[in-house]
Amino acid sequence: MNCWTRALNSALYAIERGYAVFPLGLNKTPAIRSPHEKGHSCRGQCGQPGHGVHDATTDAAYARQLFDLAPRAAGYGIACGGKFIGLDLDRKNGVDGCTTLHQLADKHGFDIPRTTTICTQSGGFHLWLSVPDGVTVSNSAGRLGPGIDIRGTGGYLVGPGSVGKSGDYRLHPQRGDVGVQPVPEQLLKLMLPAPASRPARRYEPTGDKSEAALNGLVRVVLGAAEGTRNDRLYWAAAKAWAHVDDGHMAPHEVERALVDAAVARGLAEAEALRTIASARRSTAGAA
Ligand SMILES: [Zn+2]
Repeated sequence: MNCWTRALNSALYAIERGYAVFPLGLNKTPAIRSPHEKGHSCRGQCGQPGHGVHDATTDAAYARQLFDLAPRAAGYGIACGGKFIGLDLDRKNGVDGCTTLHQLADKHGFDIPRTTTICTQSGGFHLWLSVPDGVTVSNSAGRLGPGIDIRGTGGYLVGPGSVGKSGDYRLHPQRGDVGVQPVPEQLLKLMLPAPASRPARRYEPTGDKSEAALNGLVRVVLGAAEGTRNDRLYWAAAKAWAHVDDGHMAPHEVERALVDAAVARGLAEAEALRTIASARRSTAGAA
């Protein structure tokens, strides 16, 4: 099986398990070229593919389309954020992220969870972890110490079954498919900014009627059952955009409130943005 086919099949398998994916090239960067000039701020709202992690999808048919646009794809990325994050432990150039993690575990008194672990092409590891509902872990490099990067909101992990320039990415052979374990509380604390500097990302409405309306729509998204989240989000976004068109809501407030609600409900931020943008286009077409 060539690496394109293997990457696609692995990506589709990841989708079956609820992950949002997009194609990567051999050098681990997005395989679909951006449709924009350098310096753009589009995160996929234009509706075209080519926005890296913002292309990530949980829809198998759309994933196939993305791979068809990327004949040189050799792997796939899994979008992080929401409940799913990862620790990227590098072991090269004299730095060992595993050592750093063990030191942190000793110092702060937590056990390193036996969780889904991916062996990387360069001898490092990715530990897949889950975070509690409503907690946002940012993507960052070196926050925990040398050799450890946090893959959170806006970041991605190279998925197992991908091929890179110096080897492939695979499930840890001894550990196997143990399932994603929760991040230990003490470790989670180290991943988050100090509490004082971290006000909860939450919609603080200022209007009265529009405030109540937007809060209602946010509740629809927050209350969506698994499997209906995207449909509910689309519905809520279409209603909200209609209010924007009537001049009753500010577009950036609508987008922020609905994205926050969708992420809190476990959707990938990229997917939420795309659904909201797609609802925008449908209402714009109707107007
Ligand atoms: Zn765009």
